[in-house]
Amino acid sequence: MVDNGDVPNGDKAALLTLYDSYENQAGHISEQEHNSIPKPTAAKIHDAYAKTTNKMDNTKKVLTYGKYYYIREELMNGVRLCPLCGIAQDLTLDHYMPQSKYPALSMFRQNLVPVCSACNRSKNAQPYTDFIHPYYFIPPTLKKIFLNATIKIHKNSLCVFLDIDETAFTDYTVVERLRSHLKGINSEFRLQNAIISFLQECFVGKYNNEKEIINALPSIMDTYQLYGINHWRLAVLRGIYDVYRRGEIDKFIQVLQYITEESRDQAI
Ligand SMILES: [Zn+2]
Repeated sequence: MVDNGDVPNGDKAALLTLYDSYENQAGHISEQEHNSIPKPTAAKIHDAYAKTTNKMDNTKKVLTYGKYYYIREELMNGVRLCPLCGIAQDLTLDHYMPQSKYPALSMFRQNLVPVCSACNRSKNAQPYTDFIHPYYFIPPTLKKIFLNATIKIHKNSLCVFLDIDETAFTDYTVVERLRSHLKGINSEFRLQNAIISFLQECFVGKYNNEKEIINALPSIMDTYQLYGINHWRLAVLRGIYDVYRRGEIDKFIQVLQYITEESRDQAI
């Protein structure tokens, strides 16, 4: 959808062409294409973005409604988890192609993605091409698994490595982008930490031995099916079967228990 409220009539056609091009290139335009919009118009569009927020005047205790607040509201409606990391719920609105460099795209809904504040920060610190565009990324097929997790067990710690199965893709640039995406959402180890919390939530204090865990795994996986087979939660649960094949389930549960007790002690 398009909101041309602040755009001079003479530039509307060029803006629509730019939007079409963005859609045709699945979330991308060239700088040259962006330059087809006169700078003052691009600046106007950029300024209009501030009107997508409501502002509270604390001294007068009055809330000023942004003229375009409805855009933010509509885009965030029904989004429960950040589509980039699948970890957090504190949604902000991110410009997939940055508004600083592409001001003419500041109000284009296809370029506005609700993401969590941590992902927003990571994205701002890196080229946008390091991340997938949630509106345009198409998995090879809905049933093909391409995200795998390997759980390594050390003496007192667990390390989980996520990787992309290259054979699932014909276009290697997609593989590279998914790999840099995984790296980007793990800044300050937040994905690793989320994985450990998830494992604790699933297993600690619930199962006592290998047999109980292996018997329970299919139903635990069922609980998370809705996330999609290539969500990291499902990949990590599949990784448990590999731990089982290596004969390390008991060790896995001992270490997980140890980490849980240690973090509890630290909290006290
Ligand atoms: Zn996120």
